[in-house]
Amino acid sequence: MTVHPLRLVLVNTPIGALGSGRGGGVELTLTSLVQGLILQNHRVTLISAMGSQLPSRCSAADLVEVDGVDQPSWQHANSKSSVIIPRNGLLPALWKAALEHGERADAVINCGYDWLPLWLTPYVRPRLFHLISMGNVAMVMREAIEALACSHPGRLAFHTHRQAADFCLPGAAKVVGNGFDLSNYNMQTKTNGPLGWAGRIAPEKGLEDAAAAAAALGEPLLVWGFKEDRDYADFVEASVPAGTLVWRGFCSTQEMQEELGRCRALISTPKWNEAYGNVVVEALACGVPVIAYDRGGPGELIKSGETGWLVPADDVAALTSALNRIDEIDRMDCRAWVESHATHEVFSARVYDWIRDGLRADANLTGTY
Ligand code: UDP
Repeated sequence: MTVHPLRLVLVNTPIGALGSGRGGGVELTLTSLVQGLILQNHRVTLISAMGSQLPSRCSAADLVEVDGVDQPSWQHANSKSSVIIPRNGLLPALWKAALEHGERADAVINCGYDWLPLWLTPYVRPRLFHLISMGNVAMVMREAIEALACSHPGRLAFHTHRQAADFCLPGAAKVVGNGFDLSNYNMQTKTNGPLGWAGRIAPEKGLEDAAAAAAALGEPLLVWGFKEDRDYADFVEASVPAGTLVWRGFCSTQEMQEELGRCRALISTPKWNEAYGNVVVEALACGVPVIAYDRGGPGELIKSGETGWLVPADDVAALTSALNRIDEIDRMDCRAWVESHATHEVFSARVYDWIRDGLRADANLTGTY
C-alpha cells in the first residue's frame, strides 16, 4: 500500500488529561493511533487537556494542551439526556484549537464521543472525521451520528460491527478495529495462575458477574482499573465472600500486562454494548484466554474455542462452567490472533484507508482535494 503523508490533527476526549485513566480505553487507542500514524510518516498534532502525557515513542507528535472543565461522560447518561456543556468547558476549548489547527491540516480526527464536533462537521472548512468510541447511549447522540452518516458517510468509523449495529446507517459501516503496540505486552505461558478482570469500575462493566463466578469456584479475582464509581465498587465487594476481590488499582500498561499475563484467564462481563474492549485484546496479547459474555465488542473479538470461550450474556452459571474449560485454549493462539488483527500498525493502516477514502469522496463532490 502506498501511503501519502498527511497532516493530521487528533483530538482527545474532553474527559481528563491523557494518561490520567479517566478517558478509559480512548487513551490507549489514541496513543496507539498517534504512534502508528507517525510510523507511517504522517505529521500529527494532538489536541488534549492540560497536563496530558504522550509516551516517548510519540514524541514526533506536536502536543497542544488546552485548559477547561471536564465534560460529563455519556456512559452514565440515560437515553433522554440533554447535551450539557459546563461553563469554561474543555470540549469547546478543544474544538476551538482543533478548528484553528485543522485549517492547516488535511483532516481532523475526533476520538471523543460528543455532540458538538458531530454537529459542527457540515458547517466548517476543516474536514472532521469521527472515530466513534461507544454504542448507542443517548438519543441525542444517536441522532447526531445517524444524521452525519446520511450527510457525510465517509466521515464516521467504528471499532466493531456490533457497536456500529447500534446505529441506523444508510450503508455498510466503516469498521477499523483497534490496535496495540505489542512490544508493550509480554507473552506468558504459565497456565495455572489466578483469574483476572480489568476495566473501569463502573456498572456497565458488570464486575459483579465476574466476582460471582470467581466466588462460585471459591477463587480470588484480581481486579485492575480506575474506581470510577466507588459506591458500585463497594456494592460488588459486599456481594461476594470477603477476600474474593483483590483490588490491584489503576496500573500503568507495563505493570498491568505483567500481572495480567500471569492469569490463567481474563473474565469480561459487559452489561452494555461495549464498543471494543481494549482489555480483552491486551489480555490476549499476553497469551491470556478470555471468558466473555457474547455481547458487544468482546463477543465479536473472541473466537470461542480458540482464544477463549463466549457464553450467553448475563448467564453467570455458563460463565462459571466455561472457567473450567480454560485449559482447552492454547495461549499461543491468543497472542497470534492479536499479532494478525490488532497491532498498532494494522490499526493505523485501516485508519489511513478510511481518511484517504473520505478525502477522496470529498474531492469527488467538490473537486478541491
Ligand atoms: N487500564 C489501565 N490500567 C489498569 C486498568 C485498565 O491502563 O489498571 C486501561 C486499559 O489498558 C484499557 C482501558 O483502561 O485501555 C480500559 O479500556 P476498555 O476499552 O477496556 O474500556 P472503557 O473504559 O473504554 O469502557
